[in-house]
Amino acid sequence: MTDNILFSENPAVDLKKFLQERNYSKIAVLMDNHTAVYCYPAIGKILPAHEKIEIPSGEEHKNIATCELIWDEMTAFEMDRHSALIIIGGGVLGDMGGFCAATYKRGIDFILIPTTLLSQVDASVGGKLGIDFKHFKNHIGVFKTPVLTLMHSGFLSTLPEAEKRSGFAEVIKHALISDATSWKQICSRPFNEQPWEILLPHSIKVKLKVVSSDPYEKGLRKTLNAGHTIGHAVETYLLQADRKILHGEAVAVGLVCEAFLAREKGMLSEREFGEISSYILGVFGKVPLSPADDEAIAKLTSQDKKNKGNKILCVLLDGIGNAKWDCEIRSDEVKRALSFYRSA
Ligand code: NAD
Repeated sequence: MTDNILFSENPAVDLKKFLQERNYSKIAVLMDNHTAVYCYPAIGKILPAHEKIEIPSGEEHKNIATCELIWDEMTAFEMDRHSALIIIGGGVLGDMGGFCAATYKRGIDFILIPTTLLSQVDASVGGKLGIDFKHFKNHIGVFKTPVLTLMHSGFLSTLPEAEKRSGFAEVIKHALISDATSWKQICSRPFNEQPWEILLPHSIKVKLKVVSSDPYEKGLRKTLNAGHTIGHAVETYLLQADRKILHGEAVAVGLVCEAFLAREKGMLSEREFGEISSYILGVFGKVPLSPADDEAIAKLTSQDKKNKGNKILCVLLDGIGNAKWDCEIRSDEVKRALSFYRSA
């Protein structure tokens, strides 16, 4: 699997060059109401003739109704199989726009220009495309890689700080599962002093290496779910309770709780565990959780899609820089980890 990633200092120039080498019959640019203002102008002005498709931002629009709007516009522009869709936005747009392109007339080329930290280090690498369906996240989708992905750290300058911090959780995760040196560098600096132009390519390369060696998640790719068994349960629980938090904030909770379990199982030393939990809590603060939430959160971990039978299977760090997948954890252990999190 290749993601055709280009690290670009000037995405407009690189995109123009790429398009000149192709002969697309029609080009449309998909953006949301934020990326239309903050990211499109610099790129739009150098593009050849193109149509614009603008949709409202937000996960609540990552659904089949919005896909219909996108397909409608593509059809109205008479886009044929030799057309291309350029997607300028975060993970919501990348997942949904890629899905629309991959299915329109059985698939047309699409170019990703990810503009959030999370979409750069995570969502736009690995070829997973899709939309939410009813209450199920990413329930409908396909695997397909873009013909070009343009990575440019400059887009992060207009990103709200909370969104940037949310993406940082995935950067931390990539270092913890694969690279102790990178973790050392990250945890020696506060969040707002991170060198994004260095961190970004490094973090993307971690994901790329993992997904290209295991594209269909048979083994190693599962390590990318570190922090996500408990994190996803916390995210789902709080969403259902109308206390929505950002994905990365939930992953941060998961990384701390799962590090606690790794320490309990002797896979992390006391020092390693202390370093991880104090840095993550320092950057993200604490999500307010009460003992009354524990039972429901623990129950949600047992519905995680990585489980087998009635076993809760989790990714646990085996020393910083290494991760083991399919580690069995029990519901009472999840509750103990949540109790530690509250008291930390
Ligand atoms: P998002 O796409 O909703 O973007 C977050 C917000 O930032 C939006 O309001 C957006 O309009 C705004 N924005 C984007 N770029 C901006 C910029 N440069 N300046 C100012 N504002 C900007 O959210 P996200 O966190 O990027 O992505 C989350 C989605 O990614 C979820 O739907 C998740 O399922 C998906 N995801 C997919 C994968 C995958 O492998 N395909 C992996 C992880 C997450």
